[in-house]
Amino acid sequence: MTRHFTLPAAETRLRKLARQRILMMDGAMGTMIQALGMGEADYAGQGCGCGHHSDQPQKGNNDLLNLTQPQAIEEIHFDFAMAGADIVETNTFSSTSIAQADYGLEGAVHDLNAEGARIARRACDRATAIDGRERFVAGALGPTNRTASLSPDVNDPGFRAVSFDDLRIAYGQQIRGLIGGGVDLILIETIFDTLNAKAAIFAAFEVFGETGTPLPLMISGTITDASGRTLSGQTPTAFWHSVMHARPLTVGLNCALGASAMRPHLAELAGVADTLTCAYPNAGLPNEFGAYDEGPEDTADQIADFAREGLVNVVGGCCGTTPDHIRAIADAVVDHPPRTLP
Ligand SMILES: [Zn+2]
Repeated sequence: MTRHFTLPAAETRLRKLARQRILMMDGAMGTMIQALGMGEADYAGQGCGCGHHSDQPQKGNNDLLNLTQPQAIEEIHFDFAMAGADIVETNTFSSTSIAQADYGLEGAVHDLNAEGARIARRACDRATAIDGRERFVAGALGPTNRTASLSPDVNDPGFRAVSFDDLRIAYGQQIRGLIGGGVDLILIETIFDTLNAKAAIFAAFEVFGETGTPLPLMISGTITDASGRTLSGQTPTAFWHSVMHARPLTVGLNCALGASAMRPHLAELAGVADTLTCAYPNAGLPNEFGAYDEGPEDTADQIADFAREGLVNVVGGCCGTTPDHIRAIADAVVDHPPRTLP
């Protein structure tokens, strides 16, 4: 007997909206959190009752704030939603047992994801109650801090710090938490190693098999050098061929380079991918202090060029982008039609 999956409800609604206009993602969570200047006590949240504490320092563990400072995270999501985001990303970029091992918080992974999803949902619902626009919560999966296809040891090129199965299991646990918290989509982002992304895709389909409810996937790679390849050495076209089996709702690029440097790689992807394209660059390249100083209008002008050239269906911002950037980008693309699929 053949099993027929119907398209998930969120996918049907998103595809319909995407035929009408360019959709908006939100901006960066990490740099917004940095701007709050929180210290160790704020991160670790002594006495918050969340039940997940370790002896290791937690400052910089941004995802832990889902449990220790949920109000602060909700306000950032809310500000992005009100700035025009249709799709809001959960604050769960590093919420795998692999990434949380650095902080001794592997045991917190389910709660980090489930709460991350609930917080984003609450922020979106508040925004929708104000302006009536529907918003979608995308459960964010980062690449982890280990790569399955390259050796971190120059003297031992065959060594791998993590296996496909380690990643598959860790991503599966993360995705179950995100779905438990009510996400509409799964976003696999900042992919520099396609093998890591394939483990995430595999895990997503495993979990969809368990729940019986597939969610739309968004897949976003990152170009890490001027030659236009991902860190694991793929061109945008090769990257698309590696992930197209997942039939993602969107494929695209985020982070790393600013918008102008991303343009030729995005154009290549837009020429080959028979699905929606998505681009959310950083606010330029980081300066010598690691900060991003490209202003909202500047980023918006470059993304407006993507729209004018018919390269994009979904746009937003990565590192260094604020609600003002998202508002400016939304204004800049509003009069341009969405890309038509090849
Ligand atoms: Zn980024």
